[in-house]
Amino acid sequence: MSGSVVIAGGGQAAAQLVVSLRQGGHEGPITLVSEEDMAPYQRPPLSKQYLAGKLERQRLLLRKAEYFESKGVELRLGRRVVGIDRQGKRATLDSGEALRYDWLALATGSRLRRLGVAGADLPGVHYLHSLANADRLREALRPKRRIVIVGGGYIGLEVAATARELGADVTMLEALPRVMSRVVSAQVADWLTEKHRESGVRIRTQAKVSALIGNGRVEGVETDGGSVEADAVVVGIGVLPASSLARECGLKEDDGICADEHCRTSDESVLAAGDCARAVNTLLGTAIRLESVQNAVDHGQVAASVILGSPKAYSSTPWFWSDQYRIKLQIAGVAAPNDETVLRGDPGAGAFAAFRLRRGRLSAVEAVSSPREFMAGKKMIAAQLAPDPALLADTSVPLKDLLPAR
Ligand code: ADP
Repeated sequence: MSGSVVIAGGGQAAAQLVVSLRQGGHEGPITLVSEEDMAPYQRPPLSKQYLAGKLERQRLLLRKAEYFESKGVELRLGRRVVGIDRQGKRATLDSGEALRYDWLALATGSRLRRLGVAGADLPGVHYLHSLANADRLREALRPKRRIVIVGGGYIGLEVAATARELGADVTMLEALPRVMSRVVSAQVADWLTEKHRESGVRIRTQAKVSALIGNGRVEGVETDGGSVEADAVVVGIGVLPASSLARECGLKEDDGICADEHCRTSDESVLAAGDCARAVNTLLGTAIRLESVQNAVDHGQVAASVILGSPKAYSSTPWFWSDQYRIKLQIAGVAAPNDETVLRGDPGAGAFAAFRLRRGRLSAVEAVSSPREFMAGKKMIAAQLAPDPALLADTSVPLKDLLPAR
């Protein structure tokens, strides 16, 4: 198996594509172009153990540098793909060099949504996307420092937990009536809010940030409900797909690069994988863009299968996780805001699960420190089950009894 592969991007999807290609026997040249100076690394710890200073930098690497060398994979670090000539099958780098490809994989990930208010560029305002961002933020999270976090999503809540563990004073400003409304039920969101409050985080919902203020450096955040003093501000208001390259070369794009169940874009020589892709998931019966490690890994494998000549369809149950304090949140499936919620277990005891149902069928499970419920829920979603809500809620009924016999 030959043919040259150029990968734009150096995250989890890109790394998986490389690994799956070589494992599958692809012998042609592979070039991975990443604008970051570091070889592909894990991002989840950047808001958790790494930010807390509990994980060494080298441990973040997905593969050691020797791996790429020994597999004959060329890493172009600190470089960007700036243009794609689809007819001539060439990708142009910011150095001016053009790389010829038989297959081009776009694994460009996501870019930060920026806060569009006055003062948002002041020194002391942080975002968290890259290792370099995490290194800078780590410096700011000192005992007693007043940290204001804008956005109560995954990043905001994880940074809040880490910052509290490091002894900082934390205020969170969330625009919507609840934290994490994009991803969890009201019950789980309210429970998480309570845990953060018990840990000393001040959480203000429905807060509208109008400006960041400061003289040469951020000193406060102005909101519709008054101003909050700050030594540093962390903005975590979501990401957007990094799809401008695809758009510029005329590939189909709709909040993400459109791809079929094989991660193929509207050009058969170009694949899209990871956060930047809106690929069809045959289990969900729709195209979906997800921001998760699992999705990036799956896309990397699916894209590799196409290049290797035996295309696999993407049909996994999406799953996500978040660690906050000692809480382990695990989510499988994708719920819509109006999906019904059935609770199992006692939130007061610190471990419970919210099962989400859409027209009777299980759409998602949100498990709080309940790995068994997570696993069982994930299997039920994959089997497209419509479990009886009364049985789901009844902890005397083992969940495995609700699963189809094997
Ligand atoms: P991330 O991965 O950055 O955490 P999420 O989408 O999980 O992204 O969460 C982003 C959160 O930020 C959401 O809860 C959203 O309501 C909130 N948010 C978005 N814009 C603002 C804003 N201007 N001020 C405060 N919160 C915001």
